[in-house]
Amino acid sequence: MLNLVVLGGGESGVGAALLGKKIGYKVFLSDKSTLTDSYRKVLLEHKLEFEEGRHTEERIFAANLVVKSPGIPDTVPLIVKLRSLGVEVISEIEFSGRNSSAKYVCITGSNGKTTTTLLTHHILTHAGIDVGLAGNIGKSLAAQVAENAHSLYVLELSSFQLDTMYQFKADVAVMMNITPDHLDRYDYKFENYIDSKFRILNNMCAEDLFIYCEDSEAVVCKCVDTEIVPESIGFSYKEQVVKSGARMEGDILVVRMHEKEFRINKSEISIKGRHNVYNAMAAILVCMYMGITDDLIAEGLRNFSQVEHRLETVMLEDGITYINDSKATNVDSAWYALDSMTRPVVWIAGGTDKGNDYSVLLDLVREKVKVLICMGIDNQKLIETFGSICEVVNTHSLADAMQAVYSYSKSGDTVLLSPCCASFDLFKSYEDRGRQFKVAVLELKK
Ligand code: ADP
Repeated sequence: MLNLVVLGGGESGVGAALLGKKIGYKVFLSDKSTLTDSYRKVLLEHKLEFEEGRHTEERIFAANLVVKSPGIPDTVPLIVKLRSLGVEVISEIEFSGRNSSAKYVCITGSNGKTTTTLLTHHILTHAGIDVGLAGNIGKSLAAQVAENAHSLYVLELSSFQLDTMYQFKADVAVMMNITPDHLDRYDYKFENYIDSKFRILNNMCAEDLFIYCEDSEAVVCKCVDTEIVPESIGFSYKEQVVKSGARMEGDILVVRMHEKEFRINKSEISIKGRHNVYNAMAAILVCMYMGITDDLIAEGLRNFSQVEHRLETVMLEDGITYINDSKATNVDSAWYALDSMTRPVVWIAGGTDKGNDYSVLLDLVREKVKVLICMGIDNQKLIETFGSICEVVNTHSLADAMQAVYSYSKSGDTVLLSPCCASFDLFKSYEDRGRQFKVAVLELKK
């Protein structure tokens, strides 16, 4: 019996352990931290061997194959040693792909992955297609392959997952955009991060489809330098007539592919903002390729619900709109949030800075923000950047930030939490930050 070692006991690790057992490996799961009760319960129920709070090296080095969580960098000594011993270390997606004959629509990029993945999955499901949803979202692909395999999946893929994918093949690949992010994991080299995203093209063949954003400079430059085997079709916000691809015609999205044309007014799409036009264009292209009818695509775009923590409207009270965009953990996503604001903005930002360059936001902040409420342990950089162009309030907790919101906002304003930063200084995660913000907003009503 071959030994499968799974490193990390979160959603993907536990799924990989289940799939490993099903296909006949002797499985050992190891997590340096404590497992959550629910994952521990699954492992016990399935009689899977595991350890938590430590990595026992002799067990790990006995592996024939290792599946590692995307959260573990390639550079940690354990992984370096495994590789030097000639042990293959792969991602849960790669492992699943090797053990299933499903087709995959794979969505990557710096921003918009989750929204586009959910929207694409929603339209396909609405059209009656049996399609699974996995990757960075919801139930792991491995657990789904082990338990109830679908023949088609829409996958959200991060660069960390792509880094440990080798034989995996996407049937449709979508590249949303690339802007600097996670550079700490890529030797602070933007080109390494771009290369990682482009691994999505590995193993694709001429019959497959590559959908990419033509307004993302990093994507377009990399496309010029790369031999792209599948058919490629771009999307752009530009007004242009093209034979193939998605463009704007005034307020209308016009999408052409293989002699077919789909049109929809952007006001009909349930999720708003220029970034969501991009997300919709990508989803439309996938669905047209899958042969979904125009009516069903349009219905799906109209009845898709907003995604939690992504420009999510929380409340409209006393003429003030409160928006939770806690997932905006980098500058580019906050840019699109500010870009889509149509009323004076009380902007809450701050948190763990990932080496941000805020200067790209200056024009938008000047135009739209009446007050910036900094919410973080160290707000110095935000204060220095924006202090001379709008009023800035310095707070170090959600409670104080909400007090400032109460004092500064008035009817006609939008209160926008779009932090530009990771959440770990004051919160457990971006979800925790978004949820606490929503509770605090609803408290204002009382
Ligand atoms: P990801 O899964 O890539 O992080 P999400 O869909 O979760 O993407 O969105 C993350 C943040 O980026 C949110 O603040 C959202 O409003 C913003 N966003 C969504 N789509 C795009 C896009 N196409 N371009 C830029 N920002 C986007």
